[in-house]
Amino acid sequence: MSQQFYSTKNPQKLVDLKEAVLRSLPADNGLYMPQKIGKLEDSFWKKWRELSFAEMGFQIASAIFEDGVPSQDLEEIVYDAINFPAPLVEVSQAQYVLELFHGPTLAFKDFGARFMARLMRWLTRHDQGLLTILVATSGDTGGAVASAFHGVEGTRVVILYPKGKVSDLQEKQLTTLGGNIIALEVDGTFDDCQRLVKSAFLKRQMSEELNLTSANSINISRLVPQSFYYFEAARQLPIDQKPVFVVPSGNFGNLTAGLLAELIGLPVEHFVAATNVNDVVPKYLESGMYEPRASLSTISNAMDVGAPSNFDRMLNLFGGHWEQMKGRVSGFSFDDQETRATIQNVFKQTGYSLDPHGAVGWLASNAWRESNPDSQTVVLETAHPSKFIDVMEEELGKGVIEIPERLACLSQRKKVAVQLGVDEAAFHDWLLKLRD
Ligand SMILES: *Cc1c(COP(=O)(O)O)cnc(C)c1O
Repeated sequence: MSQQFYSTKNPQKLVDLKEAVLRSLPADNGLYMPQKIGKLEDSFWKKWRELSFAEMGFQIASAIFEDGVPSQDLEEIVYDAINFPAPLVEVSQAQYVLELFHGPTLAFKDFGARFMARLMRWLTRHDQGLLTILVATSGDTGGAVASAFHGVEGTRVVILYPKGKVSDLQEKQLTTLGGNIIALEVDGTFDDCQRLVKSAFLKRQMSEELNLTSANSINISRLVPQSFYYFEAARQLPIDQKPVFVVPSGNFGNLTAGLLAELIGLPVEHFVAATNVNDVVPKYLESGMYEPRASLSTISNAMDVGAPSNFDRMLNLFGGHWEQMKGRVSGFSFDDQETRATIQNVFKQTGYSLDPHGAVGWLASNAWRESNPDSQTVVLETAHPSKFIDVMEEELGKGVIEIPERLACLSQRKKVAVQLGVDEAAFHDWLLKLRD
């Protein structure tokens, strides 16, 4: 059997894996979800602690996709995508940090983006012409997507970013790869970039001729690999006690992947959603009222989201019931001042340097432990602190945080970007030239 996918807005209308992944969003504006989620078999649990991270990922992906991708191909995709570790570090007594930043762009988004790239390549292996991935980015997502698709045969990525509005290192991540990655520096805002991308998808004929697809964060293929590392964390815990997962959250893809891991059988005590002042979900958990609003800027900026795009998916997993979600997920939110103090305090007390997102998680872990002191908590550390070097130096001083070589070496590389205005017609003309 092959897994099918429904839209959260219309459970009756099913599509196959290829459509769900290449379309990303159903036409009804819902989100794709796997139709049936079975449990991992006993044979998995007999030997899961002895499996490698990639082997475990392969077995989990098989359980979710069923025969949608033949075993051998799926194994290759997972092994190629998950080629870096997710170590668990005990930072203080029974309080762990799961380091998800050992991938090429130093953030957990590498897991989802690398898997999606290889799966898209496989799904279009018999199609004519290159698959063209169009992305607008305000910073980090573009870097993870560019790196994930770099060198993946049969694909080409066009990234639009706003001129002068991303950090130097972020810009280098987009503009120095070359090969099948093309960066467009748009003389406008992030919203202009998004508008240009949308306008291209609306041009039906061009969109088909160029095999356009998007790589945005609500793609179902990004969630699946994010469930792997919840298992990887549980496996590294020294005592067999169900963990509480604390997830620094923005669009809530990461937390939704945790719920998926639990659904297929991972024993989990509880989930804690940690946010900065963009606290729409913690507020919802408290009151039952979902009130999305404009986002506020913070130092944990990857979580500055006022209308979390995966909220409907999360709610869907609880049958739309607030009480049920509240029973499994607790929410806490913190401001920048608390986050900064935590970066300092944890470093002073333990020598461990948390990035601003991880620090929000740490605060939530402490808040949870106040009323549940016997819990074993695992905070997902979503980015390497060197990605936020300015904040880290303000709190810890210079020279404490080392910038890993794969980031540091970028500053030497030469930027290559195509200059573009905000005019839609000019952008379409440029795109059409890619056909030749
Ligand atoms: C994207 C991101 C998040 C938020 O993850 P969601 O899945 O959107 O909740 C948290 N931390 C970092 C560093 C990120 O890049």
